[in-house]
Amino acid sequence: MSFKDLQLNKPLLRAIAETGYDNPTLVQEKTIPFVLDKKDVICSAQTGTGKTAAFALPILQLLYDKQEGSKKGKKIRAVIVSPTRELAAQIQENFKTYAKNTNLTSTVIYGGTSIEPQKDILKKGVDILIATPGRLLDLHKQDCINLDYVETLVLDEADLMLDMGFIDDVKKIERLCPEGKQILLFSATIPFKVEQLANTILKTPERVEVTPTSSAAKNVSQVLYYVPKKDKIELCLHLLRNTIKGNILIFRRTKFGVDKLEKTLLKNDFKVETIHGDKAQNLRQDALKKFKNGYVNILIATDVAARGIDINELDAVINFDLPNIPETYVHRIGRTGRAGNFGNAYALCSADEKAYIKSIQQLINVQIPVEEEHPFPLDPKAKPIRHTSKKTGSKHKKGRKSEASKKKKKRWY
Ligand code: AMP
Repeated sequence: MSFKDLQLNKPLLRAIAETGYDNPTLVQEKTIPFVLDKKDVICSAQTGTGKTAAFALPILQLLYDKQEGSKKGKKIRAVIVSPTRELAAQIQENFKTYAKNTNLTSTVIYGGTSIEPQKDILKKGVDILIATPGRLLDLHKQDCINLDYVETLVLDEADLMLDMGFIDDVKKIERLCPEGKQILLFSATIPFKVEQLANTILKTPERVEVTPTSSAAKNVSQVLYYVPKKDKIELCLHLLRNTIKGNILIFRRTKFGVDKLEKTLLKNDFKVETIHGDKAQNLRQDALKKFKNGYVNILIATDVAARGIDINELDAVINFDLPNIPETYVHRIGRTGRAGNFGNAYALCSADEKAYIKSIQQLINVQIPVEEEHPFPLDPKAKPIRHTSKKTGSKHKKGRKSEASKKKKKRWY
């Protein structure tokens, strides 16, 4: 199938050709006709499948076809809600690229940056608004956003949005838009709570499914290292020195873990950047840019911060901490081995993570090969370390966090 077959108009087709896309991806093939038909859609597709264009292109076409040369300024007619700032920024980049031969405009708003410039842009009027939920509601409360003219609402990465606790915000945003709007819900996985949300707000939606999350990427070679928790950093250094080369994404569960590993790698002369939820937005963007430009070859991230961001040509993914949700493992390793390339995925498993490996292997239906030849083997009989109150130290000893930081509602991702 070609983009022409999808009945897209000339300005869009030109932009697509200029971007270098030859043919639509599967998710685009399946989704675009439904969106053009003004249907509600629930689409399970991971990042990397071309899902952004699957909603951006038909939305642009719908808006383009129905322009009212209004002298009163532009009204927001499409809203895309995204859980993370990086993803929101990336979605807007996509809209800008595809809309370059039209007069349709878009802007992105998210927290962590000054609100005033965002207000100024909104005042001038835009057709498409891409936003994180909190900042969207904040600006709406301040009367800077009018959602009365919204025709299409997109909820991107809905599963992550719910995991991050945005359910009430999402429902509120939905209610602020007009009754008859079209809703497109995109989610990497469709767990029960996403299904429930879809049932409450979507009207007889069409379903599109392109990537069953249980199938691990075929061209990714996986390997598993059993290692005592205390030796994980040493093993990671050993692997980075001897085995793992190229562009590497390392996943840690918490931002504290990300920072700790960064310090060690920097001390050992590796070129590293990090992204996590507590990092200022401009620093997160800088880190991504440096990684994408090849200025550093190692990026350490939490799942939430890395979710959805488009990083091509990864040579390896290291699961420094194993995720407790097996689907997350599939998402992580799916970031390498893209576009016909081969990739490598490494998992470091300590005694207390053995249960996670078990459920991951059940999900992907693969026994991940174990590498036993390394300097920090785990005693097969080792039991998970239990932190008893005795072990956590004296009551006079300070915790890791200051009182001030405990009071602030901090993110863990
Ligand atoms: P996404 O899943 O939206 O994050 O897209 C992943 C990557 O695929 C992005 O770099 C897009 O620019 C690219 N892409 C989207 N659609 C196509 C297409 N039809 N052909 C080739 N690349 C595409």
